[in-house]
Amino acid sequence: MTDMPQADAGPDRTPRPDTGRRRVVIVGGGFAGLACARELAGADVQVVLIDRRNHHLFQPLLYQVSTAALSPADIAVAIRRVLHKAGNVDVVLAEVTGVDRADARVRLKDGGHIPYDQLVLATGSVYHYFAHPEWRDHAPAPKSIAEARRIRARLLGAFERAESCPDPAERRALMTVVVVGGGPTGVEMAGTVAELARYTLRGDFRRIDPAEARILLVEAGPRLLAAFPPDLGDYARGRLKRMGVEVRLDQPVEAIDDGGVTLAGERIDAATVVWGAGIRAAPGADWVGGTADRTGRLPVTANLSLPGDPAIFALGDLALFEQDGKPLPALAQVAQQQGRHLGRALRRSDAPPPYRYRTRGDTAVIGRHAAVYTYGRFKLTGRLAWLLWSIAHVYLLIGFQRRTLVMLQWVWRYLTFERGARLID
Ligand SMILES: Cc1cc2nc3c(=O)[nH]c(=O)nc-3n(C[C@H](O)[C@H](O)[C@H](O)COP(=O)(O)OP(=O)(O)OC[C@H]3O[C@@H](n4cnc5c(N)ncnc54)[C@H](O)[C@@H]3O)c2cc1C
Repeated sequence: MTDMPQADAGPDRTPRPDTGRRRVVIVGGGFAGLACARELAGADVQVVLIDRRNHHLFQPLLYQVSTAALSPADIAVAIRRVLHKAGNVDVVLAEVTGVDRADARVRLKDGGHIPYDQLVLATGSVYHYFAHPEWRDHAPAPKSIAEARRIRARLLGAFERAESCPDPAERRALMTVVVVGGGPTGVEMAGTVAELARYTLRGDFRRIDPAEARILLVEAGPRLLAAFPPDLGDYARGRLKRMGVEVRLDQPVEAIDDGGVTLAGERIDAATVVWGAGIRAAPGADWVGGTADRTGRLPVTANLSLPGDPAIFALGDLALFEQDGKPLPALAQVAQQQGRHLGRALRRSDAPPPYRYRTRGDTAVIGRHAAVYTYGRFKLTGRLAWLLWSIAHVYLLIGFQRRTLVMLQWVWRYLTFERGARLID
């Protein structure tokens, strides 16, 4: 707990400390925090948005950076740029380490603090390696640009090494990719790696045939896409099989090291292991002394404020918001809607009204022409679902220019199977 007054909180780091306006401090420039700040643009409040990164990242497409389909700059945009026309918004590049509730200020890692009248916590989530934090070194997860580039370098580097590897067993291991986790991220990743190997890299090597790569998707539970109706999970499994992906269900990973994985007692040598199995909320709950759930999420009331503290709000992946007796999922559309709702409400000084999530349906992509989409009882698979998935993702991208650019790249890649971002750095 960090809500005791801190005498040594360092200097006030607010860029413009004396505007005399009510100050809303937002921690996190992801889907929730940025949507909230954009709604507050031009309002009669001072907004200070703090993020430890200088960019807003479109995480749903990180797997495409990991598999060389898109460049990092295609899915990231400087937060300062997005908000450059909002004269009442200050952007601060800093990592928040705690909240002094008694003094109403957030503390920053490099010293100093920023006082607030109202505080919005939107720090998102992190990948969770369950009881094995050491697996992180061997199995990167597509959560940041640095991690996505690490995956891309491993994947492409392994094919390069295989090309000049004289030993057949070692060559086989170099051409083996294991994706852990049968949720949307794992399914997307396995499908795209299969396309990369079977089509994009084909013909570029002399000794190896990348199409012979072994790609495994490993899931501890009995089916893929557990959050979707069972027949959509079966569809995904069937499509992946047709794409040459070996799907292993009911096989929890027992060990991961630099040379591969162990599944149900079976050793699989693999140069590339990608993690997409579990997330937990980013730090935030402990800053305000809240009782988090088992995944670290902070329970919030119907209007997104903390129980007992109407000046502090939590949004997006960090928040545990229950609707109709069920917690909302950790999705970009939830985070963005919550951010918009709160931003609109905070333009006025009275308490925000209750929030209600309105889904636009859930999608997961498997590969070219193949996706699943569900909206209530309505279900769709195949080409049309893929189209809906594309539209939904492009719609969520911040900034018209970026939407157009990504759309054009997709169309080009769709027609040619070409990948423009095959650099190993
Ligand atoms: C690989 C992948 C695929 C996904 N696919 C989909 C999908 O297809 N559809 C979908 O709806 N959702 C998808 N999601 C989930 C979606 O990305 C999240 O639900 C969404 O990003 C949550 O938004 P948020 O604002 O809560 O957090 P984030 O978008 O994660 O933003 C959190 C921000 O807080 C900042 N921050 C964190 N800690 C601190 C700190 N201490 N100090 C300062 N700043 C801090 C971070 O730098 C970040 O900018 C996917 C996620 C991943 C990882």
